[in-house]
Amino acid sequence: MDFALSEEQLALQQAVREFALRELKPGAARRDDTGEFPIEAIAEMRKMGLMGMVFPPEFGGKGLDYICYTVVVEELARVDAATAITLLAHNLCSNHINTFATEEQKSKYLAPLASGEKLGAWALTEPEAGSDAGGIRTKARRDNGSWILNGNKFFITNGSRADTLVVMASTDTSKGSKGISAFIVDGDSPGLRKGKNLDKLGYRASDTVALFLDNVRVPGENLLGEPGTGFAGAMDVLDAGRVGLAAMAVGIARGCMEESVAYARKREAFGRPIADFQAIQWMIADMATETGAARLLVRQAARLKDEGKPFTLEAAMAKLFSSETAMKAALKAVQIHGGHGYIKRYLREAKLCEIGEGTSEIQRMVIAREILENS
Ligand SMILES: Cc1cc2nc3c(=O)[nH]c(=O)nc-3n(C[C@H](O)[C@H](O)[C@H](O)COP(=O)(O)OP(=O)(O)OC[C@H]3O[C@@H](n4cnc5c(N)ncnc54)[C@H](O)[C@@H]3O)c2cc1C
Repeated sequence: MDFALSEEQLALQQAVREFALRELKPGAARRDDTGEFPIEAIAEMRKMGLMGMVFPPEFGGKGLDYICYTVVVEELARVDAATAITLLAHNLCSNHINTFATEEQKSKYLAPLASGEKLGAWALTEPEAGSDAGGIRTKARRDNGSWILNGNKFFITNGSRADTLVVMASTDTSKGSKGISAFIVDGDSPGLRKGKNLDKLGYRASDTVALFLDNVRVPGENLLGEPGTGFAGAMDVLDAGRVGLAAMAVGIARGCMEESVAYARKREAFGRPIADFQAIQWMIADMATETGAARLLVRQAARLKDEGKPFTLEAAMAKLFSSETAMKAALKAVQIHGGHGYIKRYLREAKLCEIGEGTSEIQRMVIAREILENS
């Protein structure tokens, strides 16, 4: 597999790198302190076409490939993972609609999401069902051609700000995960109540809330695909989502490495820059090696997806390895910075990579299943 970036991809990388350093970096620590949502950055990303880059131009997107997507997410997360995760959640919603919606649904809902005019959220997790997502309790019942949704969702990124949500709910509880369906829900639907931004360890500028659905009426035509296909669809969407989350982890790991290199060059101890000490050099060497390996796994998964080949195994491997790489790099970065350091934000952000879109334990389950059952 050739992982060299094309001229177009390199130009995109350069443009997003400049944007991230100019627009995101200066306010990232402040937003992390205050929990201020990156509204201006999102507006700028919309102008750059980043909110729907992988979706078809006829539905407002840019028609770019997943390699481009991972390059963009890495650059954003390198300086501001809270903004990166906002894009990831928006894309889970848009991708679910792009993959399973009718042309009419795409015209109405995908086009404004892909152009960035509207913001999306994707709601699977519930207070009692995270890893075991087949056990969700939110229910949808038929009523005069509409669907009525009742239940609670939890940890929903962009949940209080989204114009459009994809919500998973059971339409037939007797069938377990095969009774789960996916619905497009308008963010201003009567009966949809949104909790406050959760007091999270990291990503404090991103919007992560509980949602309470109390007799939310959804038009019949907002069912995505056939009844009972929502869980399989969500797993498909998560495969692609994990490639994005893995790219975010690579961005965090790279941030840790680059900040550590800069700090080690200027910080002096015993009359020398700490970069002169072998103990520091070895930490930097490990960070650089593991970050490079993680990026190759991410590009491999993205390339397979772009070629229309199966990539469940590779996405899980990329997600698992990149997340653990980010965590290790963040710990080393904190060590290199000693008692000083805003770098601790990276540590808080790296940890989520081992939890969101399937924990590391779940990734190991997926990888083992793919190898034992499918190879
Ligand atoms: C900041 C943030 C943003 C999020 N955004 C979204 C979002 O936008 N949309 C959404 O739907 N969800 C979202 N999530 C939810 C996220 O996907 C879940 O937190 C995650 O899937 C884990 O679920 P849980 O928290 O319920 O943990 P649990 O499933 O309760 O897991 C607890 C522990 O048990 C382990 N475990 C569970 N089952 C097994 C098993 N079979 N074998 C071994 N170990 C196991 C887990 O690995 C974990 O260590 C978000 C979460 C966070 C923290």
